[in-house]
Parts: sequence; C-alpha cells; structure tokens
Amino acid sequence: MQYLTKLTLNLIKKSLNFTCYKLVIVENLSMKAMKINKITFLVLIMHSFCNLQSQDYTAKREKMVKKQIEARGVSDKDVLNAMEKVERHLFVLQEYLDRAYDDCPLPIGEGQTISQPYIVALMTELLELNKKKKVLEIGTGSGYQAAILAELAGEVYTIELIDTLGKKAGKILDKLSYSNIHIKIGDGYQGWPENAPFDGIIVTCSPTKVPEPLKEQLAEGGIMVIPIGEHYVQELAVITKKEGKLIQRGVTGVRFVPMKDEKGNKY
Ligand code: SAH
Repeated sequence: MQYLTKLTLNLIKKSLNFTCYKLVIVENLSMKAMKINKITFLVLIMHSFCNLQSQDYTAKREKMVKKQIEARGVSDKDVLNAMEKVERHLFVLQEYLDRAYDDCPLPIGEGQTISQPYIVALMTELLELNKKKKVLEIGTGSGYQAAILAELAGEVYTIELIDTLGKKAGKILDKLSYSNIHIKIGDGYQGWPENAPFDGIIVTCSPTKVPEPLKEQLAEGGIMVIPIGEHYVQELAVITKKEGKLIQRGVTGVRFVPMKDEKGNKY
C-alpha cells in the first residue's frame, strides 16, 4: 500500500503539476490522515495514468509527423496538422495500441490493414483538398483515413466492402462527432453515383485497372489517387481529369490489400 501511495503521488505530481509546497504537505500525510477512501484512490490513479498516457500519445504523434512524414517530403501544413490532430491509436486494435504511431501498416481485423502513416499523409496531400471539396474514399477500413480527409474536405463519402469493419469505423467516427463523413457498406468498385461527381477520389485497396465507374464519377478538374497493379507490385497513380480526358502519372511503389467484389474475387 505504501508503495502504491508513493506511486500515485508521483503520478499526480507529474500529471497535475502540484507546487513543491503542496507536495511536501501531501507526502507527509498518510493515506489514513488524508481520508482518501479506496474509490477516490483508484480514481486518482486512473486519472493520473490516463493523463500521462494521452500526453505520451500526443508526443508520439508529433514525432510521427516530424520523423516519418515531414522528413519524407510531405509539406502541406493542413495535412501535417490533420495528421497531428487525429488520434490514430483510437483506430487500431487493442493489441497494437503501443504500435499505433509506428512507421508501418497494422492489422485491423478481417485480414485488412490500416496504412502506414506516411502513405496516408502522401495520398491526402496528392488530393489537394480544401473545405469546398467533396471526396470519395474506397476502402473505409478502420476509418482513420476518412477522419484525416474530414479534417480537410467539406464532405467525405466512404465505402467499405466488409460489413463488420464499416460498422466499427462508423461507431468510432460518430463518437468523434465527424458530421461530414458518410459511410456506405458495399462494393466501392461501383463508386457512389448518387453523390457524384467528386473533386477527389482516393482508393485504399488495389484493383489491377482503374474502375470505369470511378473514372466517370471524377469531376472535371478532379484528382484520383489510386494504387494500381497486381498483389505485391503496385504503383500509386495520380489521375487528373482535364476537359474530360484522364491524365495519369505514377508517384511511387506501394503495397495495398486487393480490391475485391462481394464474392471475394479480386478486381
Ligand atoms: N483506409 C483504411 C485502410 C483500408 S484497407 C484505413 O484508414 O484504415 C483496405 C480496405 O478496402 C479494407 O477494409 C477492405 O475491406 C476494403 N475493400 C476491398 N475491396 C473493396 C471494395 N470493392 N469496396 C470497398 N472496400 C473494399
């Protein structure tokens, strides 16, 4: 108990920044004298622990942005701010919490993955978003990329093939009060014609060819960012529509999970 008391006081010290004067007084009092009952004691421990942990995540996010994203050339301030603001650890599985800000993709269940932070930032920057723009994402997955998009675009439409993933992402995004994200469960190959055209389209699963419906649903002057290719060998392409014509350029090699239809066949 004495050890726990000391530990708690240390945690409170760190998280609440007590003055030295107050601390001397507090440390000299025994738990009994302070009349802190067990529940208050536990609440204090938990409060202090959570406070420290969230400070830890904030520091990890700052480091992620500097070392993984800015250092590799992403320079759009709004994108960097969004990457620093959105709490990536809320979108990963419990068992990967301590790796939420690592420089790699992570499993999100159902054999799918949340992309590496740098790739999320790069693809977002390539879309050239602002609050007047409407963007379509294919492959909601954890909902993390959708949250980043929602920080920058006016409206975000996102489609997920796997029911459980789409519902889980919807719950997290609702909790975070993103009122400009609209989720649909279904086959994103078909796009979302009712809400087209889109100023930006981002595809976070990989087809072997650019889906025709997505080409049609891209607005004039719009930008599509899409990984194209066979499993393991894909190129991240940027496609722009100018006077009805599509112009495509390759950006870098990437590795995304395949785009599939409702029967599980790869596109
Ligand atoms: N953007 C996500 C990562 C997506 S992983 C994030 O931020 O977490 C790719 C996702 O695409 C998977 O969830 C997979 O189920 C989904 N997917 C694959 N084929 C699809 C299709 N035809 N339509 C919609 N989603 C699809």
